[in-house]
Amino acid sequence: MPATGTLYIVSAPSGAGKTSLVKALIDSQPQVRVSVSHTTRAIRPGEVDGVNYHFVSREDFLERLERNEFLEHAEVFGNLYGTSQRWLEDTLAAGQDLILEIDWQGAQQVRRLMPAARSIFILPPTQEALRQRLTNRGQDSEDIIERRMREAVSEMSHYVEYDYLVINDDFAHALADLQAIFRANQLRQEPQQQRFEGLLRQLLA
Ligand code: 5GP
Repeated sequence: MPATGTLYIVSAPSGAGKTSLVKALIDSQPQVRVSVSHTTRAIRPGEVDGVNYHFVSREDFLERLERNEFLEHAEVFGNLYGTSQRWLEDTLAAGQDLILEIDWQGAQQVRRLMPAARSIFILPPTQEALRQRLTNRGQDSEDIIERRMREAVSEMSHYVEYDYLVINDDFAHALADLQAIFRANQLRQEPQQQRFEGLLRQLLA
């Protein structure tokens, strides 16, 4: 039987450095992929349609929702976000590990549907660092930054629902923590048994 990939959920408040950490993680782990969500949010400078997100209209999103195309979906900051179920299932079935960068509402839905998923919450070292990072981004107005700060505190209150906590006080350190979580999960008995089926048979002969 071919190995099935492991599903990981990664959540963090906006500005905690989640996207950069996940990008560095997948650059170091070729067997791990990131799911590209659908969203109704406006595209930001530097983002690419089909790479960062599939950017769709609200109407298109609601039609997909009607057709049950999403494993999970949520409204965040007034925009809709959803994970394509078909792509997720095909990718896991092909033995690839998969990361969902989603919010706590989506995480709750995925945990219910796929209890084997491992979930990781990334936290900033301080509230000030979070505000600084949101300001440094320079792409949103002061109003939006203040609203996102409030949303961030509300998002962070869900950390207890996650299997792992990573504090992003230092990028290299936080990346090493993430890599350790993935490595430990790859070494669990079930995936190792599938990977080393031949060896195990030979050793026990
Ligand atoms: P941003 O618009 O800044 O990229 O993301 C805003 C929030 O939406 C983040 O917390 C991000 O994790 C979340 N998000 C992105 N894609 C999805 C998704 O497919 N489902 C859910 N539930 N949340 C998502």
